[in-house]
Amino acid sequence: MRLTAARLGVGSAIALLVAAALGHALNATAIPIAIVATLMLVTVLALWHLQESSMPASALSPSTSADAARHAMRTRRLAGQLRALRNAAAALPDALVLLDREGRVRWFNDAAVRLLGLRRPQDRRIMLSARLVGSTIADWLAGSDTEPLDDVPAPADAALHLSLSLLPIGRDQQLLIARDISNLNRLEQVRRDFVANVSHELRTPLTVIHGYLELLDPEDAPALEPIIGEMRLQSRRMAQIVEDLLTLSRLETQPRLVEEHVAMPALLATLRKEAEALSHGRHTIVVEAEDAVDLLGSLKELHSAFSNLVSNAVRYTPTGGRITIRWRHTPEGLEFAVIDTGYGIPASHQARLTERFYRVSSSRSRETGGTGLGLSIVKHVLNLHQARLTIASEPGRGSTFAAIFGSERALEPGARDA
Ligand code: ADP
Repeated sequence: MRLTAARLGVGSAIALLVAAALGHALNATAIPIAIVATLMLVTVLALWHLQESSMPASALSPSTSADAARHAMRTRRLAGQLRALRNAAAALPDALVLLDREGRVRWFNDAAVRLLGLRRPQDRRIMLSARLVGSTIADWLAGSDTEPLDDVPAPADAALHLSLSLLPIGRDQQLLIARDISNLNRLEQVRRDFVANVSHELRTPLTVIHGYLELLDPEDAPALEPIIGEMRLQSRRMAQIVEDLLTLSRLETQPRLVEEHVAMPALLATLRKEAEALSHGRHTIVVEAEDAVDLLGSLKELHSAFSNLVSNAVRYTPTGGRITIRWRHTPEGLEFAVIDTGYGIPASHQARLTERFYRVSSSRSRETGGTGLGLSIVKHVLNLHQARLTIASEPGRGSTFAAIFGSERALEPGARDA
């Protein structure tokens, strides 16, 4: 019975390891499969050990030679399957390190040697955090953070970049999985450079086209007036898309921002003026700021993000609607919110709104001069402030877009950084 369970475990684990390797090759995530495979490896090892240690004396010295031969054959087959399983785990491209409750190394595969610099046999049973001391990985292992660690240099080769996660296995083991993401990073960099270069290259010809269109006087050829008007509108749209793409590229390549004391009353007053200019009196615009608190951040980027939220509220709220710009200190943190009584957004679209060019209604976005990049810019700016965006919306009733900042960013009004 135990033998069958062990064999089943070996078979499934081998299949999973092959799937994991395939998944890796196809650039799909192999991590969940690798976990299951390792779990099975651990189970199989335990079953094997159990079987060996609990084998009755009669089984160890079988009474008949036929029994003895069958037993020897089964043992050889199981040992062979175990070896295959270990070899497959060893060959996985992701580094796998099995740790005990204290964080001591119990087992690791070949990729752990290549990526984490572990050595055989010296590093068996040593504390992994002590072995990697001085690296970000050691601090992360020693801390209580259960979140994955993304994009850190590999201890064995700083040119490689790793993404790590730590998963509990049973009550007293953990599995460390480290994946080499250097190629993904490179591809991402190629994509970023391409978008930045294309946007940059388009800027000059667009400025020229736009300039000449402005020089054309529709009165010289009245029949062409609607065409010239449409061409001007579209060239302005293109220029805005290019500017937004360049803003996104700049935000993506900026690891951190220069932060300053942002005086919120002044910023809120500017936002109100911008909203009124955009609304042309079609909406009621209200600013609510009862808590006297300022914000630590980048004024330029925050202004751009908050303006996007305000402009969306104006553009997606029909005439007669109300737009509230609210700033307050809540138990959750500092909250900048824009609340409108506009069209609202169906729940199925809400999770994707911050994706580039994602629009609920393309025609409505275009009619109102949208580029489809506003919320993407908002998300990037908030990420650079370790803040998050929450969206609450109901079709036909309106939306609330709120940026939540950590309370550690609260500043006393009037005080300025040195
Ligand atoms: P756009 O330039 O199209 O407005 P955004 O990235 O700013 O691009 O917004 C993405 C989409 O989210 C919009 O096209 C619109 O469908 C929806 N949206 C954003 N803000 C609101 C809002 N306040 N009310 C309703 N829909 C909104």
